[in-house]
Amino acid sequence: MDFLYGLTFTFSLAATFICLSDFCFIKVQNTMGKTQNKFFTLLLMIVAVNGVCTTVSGYYTPTSGSSALSLYIADQARYFYFVIHTALAPVFFFYISHVCGVVFRSNSNKKKYLYFSILALTELLAITNPLTKWVYYRDENGVFTRNWGEAIIYVAAGVFLFLSFKYLYTSWGALNYKRRSGLLMFLGITLIGIVAQLLNTNLKVELFAEAIGLTGVMMVIENEDDRIDTETGLYNRQAFMLDLGGYLANKSSLHAISLRINTPEIISRKSGVANRELAEKKVAEYLETIHRKYNIYKLGRRTFVLVIFGQTDDEAYDLAARIRLRFDKPWQLVDTLVLLEASLLVAKIPEQLETLNDALYMFENFQPDKDRNKILSGSDLDFILRGSAIEKSISNGLAEGKFEVYYQPTFSIDGKTLHGAEALVRLHDDEMGMLYPDEFIPVAENIGLIDAIDDFVLMEVCKLIKNENLEQIVDCINVNLSVIQLMKPGFVDHINGIVEMSGVDKKYINFEVTESISAESYELLNSTINSLKEEGFLFSMDDYGTGYSNMKALASMHLDCIKIDKSILWEAEKSDLGYIILENCVRMIHQMDLDILVEGVETESQIKMLRPLGVNYLQGFYFSKPVPKDDFLKIAKKSDTRSKALSDHQTALLP
Ligand code: C2E
Ligand code: CA
Ligand code: CA
Repeated sequence: MDFLYGLTFTFSLAATFICLSDFCFIKVQNTMGKTQNKFFTLLLMIVAVNGVCTTVSGYYTPTSGSSALSLYIADQARYFYFVIHTALAPVFFFYISHVCGVVFRSNSNKKKYLYFSILALTELLAITNPLTKWVYYRDENGVFTRNWGEAIIYVAAGVFLFLSFKYLYTSWGALNYKRRSGLLMFLGITLIGIVAQLLNTNLKVELFAEAIGLTGVMMVIENEDDRIDTETGLYNRQAFMLDLGGYLANKSSLHAISLRINTPEIISRKSGVANRELAEKKVAEYLETIHRKYNIYKLGRRTFVLVIFGQTDDEAYDLAARIRLRFDKPWQLVDTLVLLEASLLVAKIPEQLETLNDALYMFENFQPDKDRNKILSGSDLDFILRGSAIEKSISNGLAEGKFEVYYQPTFSIDGKTLHGAEALVRLHDDEMGMLYPDEFIPVAENIGLIDAIDDFVLMEVCKLIKNENLEQIVDCINVNLSVIQLMKPGFVDHINGIVEMSGVDKKYINFEVTESISAESYELLNSTINSLKEEGFLFSMDDYGTGYSNMKALASMHLDCIKIDKSILWEAEKSDLGYIILENCVRMIHQMDLDILVEGVETESQIKMLRPLGVNYLQGFYFSKPVPKDDFLKIAKKSDTRSKALSDHQTALLP
């Protein structure tokens, strides 16, 4: 028996020392001081004090010869043990709920009060025990006896543990490996302690097990080194993902304000990286003055996110507006004052952002509004989210064959002889329906998938020409190329490879590119075009009249055709000045000895206007909208060989 008391004594004292040293470590680590950290400290304190109580009551264990004083001390120690130990399960529960990201919303305050009342009730039972003896008492023989009050305390502890497990269960997917293993370790070791103590009630090893478990938790959960951005001391992207994952898993309600600095590169370029870093630090410091530090995250070089609990939409918006105002004033950097340009966005979670990916996409990709002072919120967010959905759709679409090439026939100026077609890509999305290139091509360019799309279109066009013998029927099929792709090294070989493999004669492929590039890029563009032309491809300049129309550069390029943009045609119909512009465009292009295709032809009167000008080809809804391959083949085959005219333009118009 003495040996067991000795062990209990050692284990309990060890538990106290472990918890006290953990406590010192935490103080040194200087945590963020959020509620979670406070609950953890409380857990350490509970175990530490309990360790002292058990040690004392073990030492003064009543024996037949015990003095009145030692009995009194033993009783007091046991009393303190009960009072404090009763709080262990509830505090553990509150700690776990914070680790898991459960936020008791204002409308679920009832729940919060219920939990606190259970805690208060059990504590009351323990505290008043010397008077009531409801929890335990010493019987007439001086033997320690448990009463019904202890059963209630145990049931309450059971409820708190059950709720803790429930939160762990719902948040399991959102917790990272470290947190999971930390919590499992704590629970495993504590369980071993409890079982060992159950097997031998005289061996008080539970507290020691809890202390060891808490040390593990401290190392993997409370140690936040890898969650903190070293430059600013704010939480980093990883911490944001983990925390928001928890909030979403538990359907916690919150607002998030995202702040993007639009000009970090400019600061780096103008006044050095040190100033950029200092600018970020200054912004971080400013944010800390208006919001709790542990709810501010720095996602990347330019993005900060503030997480806000328990506020109305208006209050969250007002906070964003306050931050916006600060950016009207300059920031003091090492040796200079700078004005930083920032964009802000307010999102309501989970209503507006249901997944972590959506949130990251939204916060990291939103572009400033035309009105740069506008704070994006509400329906502005739908637009950004659509971009995210489109990104997903593009990547899935490539793998799952959801892209389809449509063809819009082009005709000679007589309006009857088929000239060819323009290949126009479409994307079928299971949820959003058919997506148009105007919307998804810019996104594809952004995420670097435009090459794959353009390759797909070119391959489809080659297959069509080869399989359907189009070489006998059309002059060429026009294929759009993204300028970004065109500028890449090795582009010409790449394109050659695709077309040569298909066996299609290169003169049936007419590449279209939009003149949306800066003047300094013309040289590179020119040399690529020349190489492609040497290979035998045709080349058209698309959307003429919408860009900068650098005539000199255009004249130096070896193009075959210029496509006049539909806006020029439509304007010509509306006003005299518009007509003069169209007329002059046509004249200039003819002087350069290039063919002209006018797109956007929708009415007969437009054709009548264009004929005297001597343009060569027409394309537009008047003849046909872009149609799927089979419908285009019907049109092409009806037109038969190029010499055979269509009897009536209506035959070309498909439903
Ligand atoms: P674009 O090259 O200027 O293509 C012509 C666009 O004008 C097509 O829109 C076509 O449907 C539309 N259009 C043609 N005739 C008329 C008309 O009479 N009235 C009106 N209102 N519109 C007409 P679409 O198919 O939505 O394509 C939009 C743009 O997407 C294209 O403009 C092109 O820049 C780009 N694009 C399409 N396919 C590809 C592709 O495979 N690769 C690349 N890089 N870009 C593509
Ligand atoms: Ca085009
Ligand atoms: Ca065009």
